[in-house]
Amino acid sequence: MGKTKSHVDVLIIGQGIAGSFLAHFLEKKGKTVCILSSKTIPNASKAAAGLMQRISGKFLTIPPLIDSCFAESVDIYRSLEQEWGIPLISKHTTIRCLNSIQKKRWKKISKRNLYSSLSSLECKSRSLSSLTLDDSIELFDTYLVNPSLLLNTFYDYFNAKDMYRESIFNPENLTLHPQGISYDSMTSDHLIFCCGSHISELDFFSHIPFDNVKGETLEFYSDHHINSIIQKDHFIVPYGSQHFKIGATYDRKLNYLPTKHGYHQLVDSIQDLGFSNSQILQHNTGIRCFSNDKKPIVGWHPLYKNLGIFGGLGSRGYITAPSLAKQWAHDFPNYTTCLRSCDVTRFCV
Ligand SMILES: Cc1cc2nc3c(=O)[nH]c(=O)nc-3n(C[C@H](O)[C@H](O)[C@H](O)COP(=O)(O)OP(=O)(O)OC[C@H]3O[C@@H](n4cnc5c(N)ncnc54)[C@H](O)[C@@H]3O)c2cc1C
Repeated sequence: MGKTKSHVDVLIIGQGIAGSFLAHFLEKKGKTVCILSSKTIPNASKAAAGLMQRISGKFLTIPPLIDSCFAESVDIYRSLEQEWGIPLISKHTTIRCLNSIQKKRWKKISKRNLYSSLSSLECKSRSLSSLTLDDSIELFDTYLVNPSLLLNTFYDYFNAKDMYRESIFNPENLTLHPQGISYDSMTSDHLIFCCGSHISELDFFSHIPFDNVKGETLEFYSDHHINSIIQKDHFIVPYGSQHFKIGATYDRKLNYLPTKHGYHQLVDSIQDLGFSNSQILQHNTGIRCFSNDKKPIVGWHPLYKNLGIFGGLGSRGYITAPSLAKQWAHDFPNYTTCLRSCDVTRFCV
């Protein structure tokens, strides 16, 4: 590797939740890290609500990685809160309204042991502020992370430690060597792409069958003082006593532009739930990066051994990213057992 260039152990592309946590844990393990990212490129982590639920989706399932990641990720947010002295995560109850199909399913699955500790089993009408939420259950152990505060604090930290470079990654400036890579004025033993849905625009991992989905959210004020999360067709999360975020739509037209259709879908949901005097503050969009098997993607390229990926976090990045990043950093550059189920080599080149 070139001796005149500055050298780091790991170069990370992207400062969303994946890149931030991976850099954080690698640095804690004594690795030198540089993050190259651009604020001009849209970021799913900032569009997100930061919601963490064990029971989720229209089928009210408890996905497999929840068991291994949820509690560890909550602990990680809590310890960052202590380290930084800022409020990053809060615990809430979710009031989840069920449609007729979900009610039938709930009757069956709620008898399972796991569900009884995570939810109020009874499906009934509930009142909250002046809203009436018919056919609803309560989901306990749900959390809300503050995405902007988390990512901005990581950014300040990386910047202060001279670990951050504001730049758009250009593959033409990358050279691969047997022992590492060169990029612009630096060399590194490893390069890891943490660039969310933008990974599908780069050639290196174009063999992965991505199935990305756009989502839109609205921030709004309303008269209600509510501290619970409400979920019907969309979730509504409290950002302060009268400040809320609603989302997210599900759309396969992949661009970052806010749409009238998305806006009206969300405004209809706000009205349908009975929120009064609402005032829309902001309309955001983001793209969730999914692989076709919906599992995260972690590990080293099968042909280019120094190129890695940490992504495919879908709609659960706030639950999985902290725990998976910690696990990878622990045995870096190798993986532990849990990470093997997310190994990128499951896709053929
Ligand atoms: C509307 C919406 C709501 C969501 N709500 C939730 C939720 O409530 N809970 C939850 O757990 N998950 C939620 N998600 C999913 C969650 O946001 C993602 O799983 C997670 O943010 C993905 O993080 P990431 O770091 O992989 O990607 P990203 O957050 O997209 O980060 C990628 C980073 O790479 C940078 N980048 C990309 N390309 C380049 C390049 N060429 N050069 C330089 N930099 C580059 C970008 O600027 C960005 O900083 C939601 C997603 C959306 C879209």
